[in-house]
Amino acid sequence: MYEKFRLAGKIAGEALKIGAESIKEGVSYLEVAEKIEEYIKKKAKIAFPVNISVNSVAAHYTPSWNDEKKFMEGDVVKIDVGTHVDGYIGDTALTVEVESNEHAKLIECAEIALENAISVVKEGIEIGYIGKVIEDSISKCNFKPIKNLQGHSIERYRLHAGISIPNYFDGSKIKLKEGQVVAIEPFVTTGIGYVVDAGHGNIYQVIKKSPLTSQLIKHFDGLPFAKRWLRNLYGERVEMKLNFLLKKRLIHKYNTLVEARNGIVSQAEHTLLVEKDGCEILTRR
Ligand code: MN
Ligand code: MN
Repeated sequence: MYEKFRLAGKIAGEALKIGAESIKEGVSYLEVAEKIEEYIKKKAKIAFPVNISVNSVAAHYTPSWNDEKKFMEGDVVKIDVGTHVDGYIGDTALTVEVESNEHAKLIECAEIALENAISVVKEGIEIGYIGKVIEDSISKCNFKPIKNLQGHSIERYRLHAGISIPNYFDGSKIKLKEGQVVAIEPFVTTGIGYVVDAGHGNIYQVIKKSPLTSQLIKHFDGLPFAKRWLRNLYGERVEMKLNFLLKKRLIHKYNTLVEARNGIVSQAEHTLLVEKDGCEILTRR
């Protein structure tokens, strides 16, 4: 099982790097998303649609099939990639700035907070303490953590498997256990420090088994999927079909999350295997 986690993590790291290198002024979000997803599909499976979240968008944006958005100079771009091998998931993210260095400190801060958090992860550590390390690291660079986005434990076919790892000190005394797999993902902002629902999105997930959702479950292993992936399944009826399933409460829609004061947001994420005296970074890039 850990070999599968390791392989998924390795491929996620590689795909993330390829994606980051392909971001340039004038390139479309869709091109980058498809490049990353094509790479993953050659070696593993996609655990969730590539998230490409720009500037004050923190998470959960993936391009639609006809998305015309292109990267512009000065954009702060978070790419978040998920792969799986037989259900064992690798989840990793980084931030790049398009042809500019204005937000280098913000981007570096997320990396430092992640690094500091990783350095304290081991069996028995309280997740509230991990949050404290992240919060202190971010305060030191004079930014704010986003408090309503969290890291998470990962289990087979479960991206968010029950334990949430805070990006600030929340007093939680839950302890990590040896052999657990967790994703840690500090989000850093120039804004007020929480995200709000932007009311629209292109990412969905089945939440209830039914004859109406069995095809989707089969195709996406019960994991999140993008609206643009459904063109082959449903052709022109994609929108109608999704609205019907939403109304029946058989699927959930992940809306885009935006910083509440439109602050700029950076993110860094690794998937880790908790060990007795430390941890192994599964998504090293
Ligand atoms: Mn992620
Ligand atoms: Mn994650």
